[in-house]
Amino acid sequence: MVEPRDVVVIGGGFAGLAAGVALAERGFRVALLEGKPALGGRAYSFVDSQSGDTVDNGQHVLMGCYGETLDFLERIGTRDRLFFHRNLDILMLERGGARAQLRTAPLPGPFHMGAALLRYRLLAPSERLGVMMAGIRMLSMRRRDRPALEQLTVAALLTMLRQGARARRCFWHPLAIATLNENPELASAALLAEVVSRTMFSRRFDSAFGYAQVGLSELYCTAAASFIERHGGLVARHALVERIELDAQGTVARVRLRDGRALGAANFVAAVPPDKLLRLLPERVAEDPAFARLAGIGTSPIICVHLWLDREVIQSPFAGFIGTTTQWLFNKRRILQDGGGQRQGYLSFVISGARKLVDSPADELIKLVTEDLHAVLPSARASRILNALAVKEKQATIAPDPGSGRLRPPVQTPLDNFFLAGDWIATGLPATIESAVIAGRAAAEAVARRVGQASGERLEPEAAVGAA
Ligand SMILES: Cc1cc2nc3c(=O)[nH]c(=O)nc-3n(C[C@H](O)[C@H](O)[C@H](O)COP(=O)(O)OP(=O)(O)OC[C@H]3O[C@@H](n4cnc5c(N)ncnc54)[C@H](O)[C@@H]3O)c2cc1C
Repeated sequence: MVEPRDVVVIGGGFAGLAAGVALAERGFRVALLEGKPALGGRAYSFVDSQSGDTVDNGQHVLMGCYGETLDFLERIGTRDRLFFHRNLDILMLERGGARAQLRTAPLPGPFHMGAALLRYRLLAPSERLGVMMAGIRMLSMRRRDRPALEQLTVAALLTMLRQGARARRCFWHPLAIATLNENPELASAALLAEVVSRTMFSRRFDSAFGYAQVGLSELYCTAAASFIERHGGLVARHALVERIELDAQGTVARVRLRDGRALGAANFVAAVPPDKLLRLLPERVAEDPAFARLAGIGTSPIICVHLWLDREVIQSPFAGFIGTTTQWLFNKRRILQDGGGQRQGYLSFVISGARKLVDSPADELIKLVTEDLHAVLPSARASRILNALAVKEKQATIAPDPGSGRLRPPVQTPLDNFFLAGDWIATGLPATIESAVIAGRAAAEAVARRVGQASGERLEPEAAVGAA
């Protein structure tokens, strides 16, 4: 028997788990269905058989401004598995050996960032000032002329703001590619302005980097699943939803799994990427313009190469690369809690917006990253590679082109009891963990509103979710 507090959540990534936890906390009976054998979606970890090390599918960085994510982790009890720097402090390494620190000062925001830019030695003093002024102009455009900003690419905006080649190469491009996962010629200027506003011109802590000291799956998957189960819910892996089925009134009645089982509930949250969502919908629903337009959302890949060297070649926990294809290095021995005892260097390299490389074979990618490492850190040439792994995420995020903002939907859908979640929902943010968590929690809030609950009010958990 289906009860009003029965909710099915489809998808066990950040968005689905955040929705499930928020619903369980409010007393809903949650059945979370994940199609794969493991939770985590596009942010997961596994053990590398060769080294025994925990490997993330790709290094994930959180920022101090990820307020909803930090709160989600606090609630499931794993906030302490993140390490957060107090200030933004990035070692930037340029091809040929030049280097500089981009370090915010212990001043209240946004003066902390002003001080970082004014001391950034890879740029001439006039360029540093120019970058600061351009950031301020972006903020004012974001407030006063958003429609214009939404038409522009990052590259066009930087031209408009008279940013020269060095300012782009050493500051704007690393920032834009890392946060938007797209090349500046294609990425949306409105999203960059949002990032600048939230990270650079905000509280000091908002611009600081944080990362998991454990594998990503340990950071949130296990704890979120047990939170849901402790609150009377169910988390099923290997539970691929094949389609959603409507009742005579046109609301969603049940989900049909690949193995033929059906699961009914009063409300449904689909926390899956847009292409997967479209495959679940009955044809006439998928043709509704609110859903049909989702087919226009593109994707952008990220490549992560993991290298195990016979020695440590860098002390810093991470570094940005300039003038190379590889954009970031993360020193996992310094990042992972259990990484200290090992002798070898374990490094993860990130190439975002990797359209041109995503079909290259793994050995070419490993060679490319190794050459880039040698180009920015000549002393690393003395090291020997013991083990290497390339992980390609072909659909790492949605493509954040200027048109994407119009395609991203709200959590509500034309179907009364069917809600959406995922990093691609219209949160105003790039497709990130924070966007996924915000959307998941917003979907939970929408379900609670629909069943007429005041936010935060609890329903008492009972037995299992009703099967149709
Ligand atoms: C390599 C890489 C690096 C990244 N780096 C960062 C970073 O540094 N910082 C940051 O904030 N973000 C980063 N991101 C983005 C971040 O990983 C995503 O924004 C986030 O994980 C998206 O979560 P989600 O829940 O919206 O979607 P997903 O993680 O895609 O979750 C959807 C889930 O639904 C499941 N599913 C799909 N179809 C069905 C079905 N029919 N039935 C049942 N289950 C189904 C999938 O298996 C999946 O588990 C990175 C992404 C990648 C790939």
